[in-house]
Amino acid sequence: MTEKVHCLIIGSGPAGYTAAIYAARANLKPILYQGLQPGGQLTITTEVENYPGYPEGIMGPQMMIDFEKQATRMGADIRWGLATKVDFSQSPLKVEIDEEKWIEADSVIIATGASAKWLNIESEQRLNGHGVSACAVCDGFFFKGQEVAIVGAGDTACEEALYLSKICSKVHMLVRRGEMRASKVMQDRVLKTENIQVYWHSETDEVLGDKTVEGLRIRNVQTGEKQEIKIKAFFVAIGHEPNSSIFKGWLDMDDQGYLITQPGSTKTNVEGVFAAGDVQDKIYRQAVSAAGSGCMAALDAERYLGAKGLH
Ligand code: NDP
Repeated sequence: MTEKVHCLIIGSGPAGYTAAIYAARANLKPILYQGLQPGGQLTITTEVENYPGYPEGIMGPQMMIDFEKQATRMGADIRWGLATKVDFSQSPLKVEIDEEKWIEADSVIIATGASAKWLNIESEQRLNGHGVSACAVCDGFFFKGQEVAIVGAGDTACEEALYLSKICSKVHMLVRRGEMRASKVMQDRVLKTENIQVYWHSETDEVLGDKTVEGLRIRNVQTGEKQEIKIKAFFVAIGHEPNSSIFKGWLDMDDQGYLITQPGSTKTNVEGVFAAGDVQDKIYRQAVSAAGSGCMAALDAERYLGAKGLH
């Protein structure tokens, strides 16, 4: 049976929940599907210190529980489930959930966020979950007192290297260029930390190990020289990609897959479809900016439904 709704929200990070709070308060009776990782990227982080309103800071997972509670209290219908296909050929817009049922929606807010990128080498994929991880905060604890490695040179890699340095005996950090992309303050912290060793101009040649990670073979891209280091875990922190694959062919996106919205709004190229948060933002990518755009998307949806006489 097909269910009908005024406002369907896909995704449960700060953008999705904020859209749900606003849409519920505007009496749009929104339904929100949480996706594969309820709460989104903030559920795999530790302390958030830069979200206004939490003067003492807050743990990321707790913050998302708070967001969900607030959306529920306002009357949003929050559900488990993954959007698996869409049909935006006409109004009402159609979204398939869990490959089994279709929802018909007068408006859709896409807040599906972004996911970690991988190096895509065979050994990394094979040992994923057996010492290879894209989340130091989730998995670092399992390697307490041991040597680990991390690849990446952005703020995420620095943050995770610092996190690991407090748990593990040594952190080997692979940087593919002669400089880091991370902010100066994060770089300084990393470079001043005694048990983090930075390998400049270095790439991952192979993750070593049969059933679990036992080492890493790295390659200096300038000299071609290879070296092996003994480690128990390998963390990948090389950025993210937007979760937009189900919208290919329907919505305009850039060459990296970020959805394109009209400047100053959350409108996509399809009437009634709005996008908010990291799936359309490769510049700011902050919880607070995602929440702000979730608010904008709900207001845009409300105005659209009003103008069309759908609400
Ligand atoms: P970034 O895109 O900023 O950095 C990715 C890093 O991975 C770059 O150093 C890049 O190298 C490296 N990289 C990419 N592909 C490979 C590869 N195949 N092999 C080796 N290295 C690779 O991603 P982040 O996730 O670090 O950050 C995303 C955004 O979030 C940024 O805007 C960042 O500032 C922000 N952020 C802010 C935080 C904070 O303020 N506390 C915390 C975390 C993130 P190269 O430089 O050579 O391209």
